[in-house]
Amino acid sequence: MTLLDGKYIASQIRNELREQVAAIVASGRRAPKLGIVIVGHNPASETYVANKLKACADVGINAEKIAFEDTITEADLLREVAKLNADNSIDGYIVQLPLPAHINEQTILSAIDYRKDVDGLTPENVGRTVQGLPSIVSATPRGISELLSRYHIPTEGKHVVVIGRSNIVGKPMAMLLMQRPYLSLPKLSAAAVGNATVTICHSKTTDLKSICLTADIIIVAAGCPGLLTADMVREGVTVIDVGITRVEDANAPKGYRLVGDVDFASVAPKCAFITPVPGGVGPMTIVSLLQNTLQAYLQ
Ligand code: NAP
Repeated sequence: MTLLDGKYIASQIRNELREQVAAIVASGRRAPKLGIVIVGHNPASETYVANKLKACADVGINAEKIAFEDTITEADLLREVAKLNADNSIDGYIVQLPLPAHINEQTILSAIDYRKDVDGLTPENVGRTVQGLPSIVSATPRGISELLSRYHIPTEGKHVVVIGRSNIVGKPMAMLLMQRPYLSLPKLSAAAVGNATVTICHSKTTDLKSICLTADIIIVAAGCPGLLTADMVREGVTVIDVGITRVEDANAPKGYRLVGDVDFASVAPKCAFITPVPGGVGPMTIVSLLQNTLQAYLQ
């Protein structure tokens, strides 16, 4: 069994990005700039935003946190989005989710100029990905693609089971896997997943176990700790665990620990490759946002 070390691969990619950004600046151009919109004070969101700011600084990408109180109206937030669309000093930006209940997330995401949509969540970018046109791909599927690619795990002709159908992970992941490769992801990326036969599963899927037992690769993004167990996988499978759930743990320094969707102890011995949680998909997601920002800058 080989552990897919997302932390290590992400650090390699950060080194590459640092060099690319340094070369841009050395040529007299300004550094790329990312905007991060956050509404309210959700502690998990604050942590994610802080990590993204730190990651940008690490590779030389400028980043600006654009914070609003959770009393902001949807109309005012739309005006702020319009300002960011028009701001030539910002190459790409994200709106940290979730938004407060009185704001319709889809309305806000749809208002983002797709060329600046470095989370790859606008209908335009999703549609372009579906059609195999150059697009900005959602960070987590992009990161998983990089991970598979850099460990030389082929997807062509393989049966890949994706558990979860969210707009942010499951759907775009399935789309990249079934595509002819190289169409959606730019040359900037080493990732070349595609040509797989894909089955998408969700909470209404009957007999998930039988489907998983036919998989060469399983990508699980359900947010259900321990969902994938040893009896559901065959020997030699590759397992990508996207799930992140905070579980209270009095012995952990922060009072909680992060667990994935895979019963790692029982599943790992049967795997050819498996991602740990933490240290697998998570670091790849953050570095993919940096890649997307550079892509938005260069286009
Ligand atoms: P989501 O929007 O809640 O979607 C979860 C999906 O899993 C849904 O499609 C749901 O089915 C399906 N599902 C739930 N329980 C299931 C079950 N028992 N059997 C089969 N399918 C089931 O979540 P998400 O945003 O995609 O995130 C999924 C997980 O990944 C979460 O733990 C999240 O924190 C984590 N995540 C991690 C990263 C990272 O960087 N590592 C990035 C993004 C998300 P229905 O559609 O039928 O409800």
